[in-house]
Amino acid sequence: MKTLVTDISSLVTVSGTGNQYKTGEQMNEIGEIKDGAFLFSDKIEWVGTAHRAAQMIERQEMWPDKIIHLKGKTVLPGFVDSHTHFVFAGDRTDEFARRLRGASYQEIAEAGGGIKATVKATRNASEDELYENALMLALSAMRYGTCTMEIKSGYGLSFESEMKQLRVIKRLRETLPVEIKTTFIGAHDFPPEFENNRDAYVDLICNKMLPYVAENNLADYCDAFVDEGYYTVEQGRRIFETALGLGLKIRMHADELADVNAAALAAEVGALSADHLLFVSDTNIDKLREAGTVACLLPGTAYFIRMPYAPARNIIDKGAIVALASDCNPGSSFTENMQVVLSLAAINMNMTAEEAITAATLNAAYSLELADKVGSIEVGKSANFIILDVASYAGLFYHFGVNHIDEVRINGRKI
Ligand SMILES: [Zn+2]
Repeated sequence: MKTLVTDISSLVTVSGTGNQYKTGEQMNEIGEIKDGAFLFSDKIEWVGTAHRAAQMIERQEMWPDKIIHLKGKTVLPGFVDSHTHFVFAGDRTDEFARRLRGASYQEIAEAGGGIKATVKATRNASEDELYENALMLALSAMRYGTCTMEIKSGYGLSFESEMKQLRVIKRLRETLPVEIKTTFIGAHDFPPEFENNRDAYVDLICNKMLPYVAENNLADYCDAFVDEGYYTVEQGRRIFETALGLGLKIRMHADELADVNAAALAAEVGALSADHLLFVSDTNIDKLREAGTVACLLPGTAYFIRMPYAPARNIIDKGAIVALASDCNPGSSFTENMQVVLSLAAINMNMTAEEAITAATLNAAYSLELADKVGSIEVGKSANFIILDVASYAGLFYHFGVNHIDEVRINGRKI
């Protein structure tokens, strides 16, 4: 079954013309075709103009089984959300309301809130409960245009509950049509029982958790929160060297709360991505660029916890590879909506609409090692695309805070 989508007012291909990512000024080249058309099955089979498609049909060079007309609509590659924490239990709404009334993070933590509350609830939750919660978030993300996602563990912080989270992600991979990459982040925080002996918890991660994860194929990647008050660069390096030795590649929470040189560690260990980077230094941006590590920016977090935004302009101008992701989690960025993330990136990090689109599609796919399959509308790639109810892609940014999705397609199938 081949379908031709034609008369598309704004077809944004994000064509990489053979490249798996874009940097600097290339990020603005999103390959828009006005009055565009493309033919797809489960893969993209042909891309061009509506005029050319009509010609080919007339000359019997193309035989679509079905034709869809999209006048007044925009088509983009499906969003790739390369950083989420969908698997958790508990409800922190009250805590959030207290924060709005002026309670400090410290006060909330002392009252039993914060990440510790999520850890407690996640440990106590059954696998089915965690699965149901995560499924709702993943389905909602898809309704906002996410066609590929990464999901992390990190709210169990014990052998049993971390593995429970990873099994939940495995189940999501088996049931959902989206492609999901799994990241083990036992080093998301320190569990209360190891608060006074943090290195012993690092031992547990390196000696027991990571070997089990690798042996049972429970994750693609290993992550750690290397930041002020969390994991030190030394502890991070130990975890990453162990993971690399077991065949797991690295992603990383880096320099979100302070510049602790975490980005330099990401470059040193050849991480696929260094995420957050609110306080990254100029020197370390250069190191990320040289290492080819993707700088994954999460503007939802800066917004939600009222922090300064990552220096996106500087990172792009220095030529590092920039991606955007939601960081969907119950404490510091509770949204699974990539349209909001793009809007925040444009307005509050001074990215152009084109840069934001490139960062949330092709570049994010590259950071998940999937840029040969998704992230752009190009012949041979999966037919993952979204139809938006706006006549030009800029409309997605202009009319903000509403869901512009008319239709989501993954591998050609309507979701
Ligand atoms: Zn995160």
